[in-house]
Amino acid sequence: MAANTNMEYRFLGRSGLKVSVFSLGGWVTFGGQVGNEATFSCMKAAYDAGINFFDNAEVYAGGESERAMGLAIKHFGWKRSDLVISTKIYWGGKGPNDTGLSRKHIVEGTKAALERLQLDYVDLIFAHRPDNLTPMEEIVRAFNWVIEKGYAFYWGTSEWSAEQISDAHRIAEKLGLIGPLMEQPQYNMFHRERFEVEYAPLYKKHGLGTTIWSPLASGVLTGKYNAGVVPDGSRFALKDSAVIQRIRASALDTEEGRTKIAKVQKLEPIAKKLDCTLAQLALAWCAKNPNVSTVITGASRPEQVVENVKAIEILPKLTPEILAEIEEILDN
Ligand code: NDP
Repeated sequence: MAANTNMEYRFLGRSGLKVSVFSLGGWVTFGGQVGNEATFSCMKAAYDAGINFFDNAEVYAGGESERAMGLAIKHFGWKRSDLVISTKIYWGGKGPNDTGLSRKHIVEGTKAALERLQLDYVDLIFAHRPDNLTPMEEIVRAFNWVIEKGYAFYWGTSEWSAEQISDAHRIAEKLGLIGPLMEQPQYNMFHRERFEVEYAPLYKKHGLGTTIWSPLASGVLTGKYNAGVVPDGSRFALKDSAVIQRIRASALDTEEGRTKIAKVQKLEPIAKKLDCTLAQLALAWCAKNPNVSTVITGASRPEQVVENVKAIEILPKLTPEILAEIEEILDN
């Protein structure tokens, strides 16, 4: 385990598992935007800063993200028990049984992910999206089976509604099985409603843990797009990705996007006052919410990881007065 860092570790919901409050994921970057060298250096920078949780999904770069992450773990020879590794199951391929949450795909998808990661188990396994076409009982039983067999330790959901999460718990309880421990929702200064309002009753009732995604809104909250241009080498310059180009267009070419960029500009004096970067301010703001177990960051280069984990130093500076100032700017 990396020593001498000031990383904070939080319990993942009502479980005994501790995750670093900042973590690192491979969406867009690992196995896609960046090669193995940058993947290795980002993961090493994260590990050295005390990050213990690394997030992945079977769909990221068509499985290449898991492969790259698995290679890095092997390359550095990190002790498995020091790491918390996840993957997410839903989009496994183009065949009729390669997508969704059938028992068949959950089990086969998990085994294939482990093979790509070169691991015997993941710590966390997520249902990457809800699947209304598969009975909830089948989903609950399949994830429980995966856990019983030792392929994963905890199961959770991603972008499920509060109602769907509650339904899974109700069915699990009826069957004497384990319900979902954690949710992986988008949460950042611009995207708050579901996390703060819809899920609010679940934190106490089910002890729901959270591993939140896109804390920088794909980079918009770093201020790198404030001039309305797309810097070379940045995420929005990835022309081949339809998903990214949709996010870029909504961030830069719409009235709503321009309003958000204006808000980022207004946050600049606060970051200056706190002697931090906009990225650190936005990340610390997420982590300040006690219902956040871990903030999954993304990075295309190690310098970003080094900068981002220093957000831990900004947490105590987010006083009620500063948070109120931020609230006034966000106005959402
Ligand atoms: P962010 O919103 O934090 O965006 C990360 C990107 O922003 C980086 O790849 C980098 O892109 C840029 N960036 C990061 N730090 C800096 C910095 N300090 N200065 C300038 N630019 C910076 O997170 P992601 O959208 O990547 O999401 C994080 C993780 O969450 C994913 O890897 C994945 O594990 C998970 N996720 C889960 C989803 C789900 O449905 N469950 C959906 C999406 C993500 P660049 O340098 O290329 O501009």
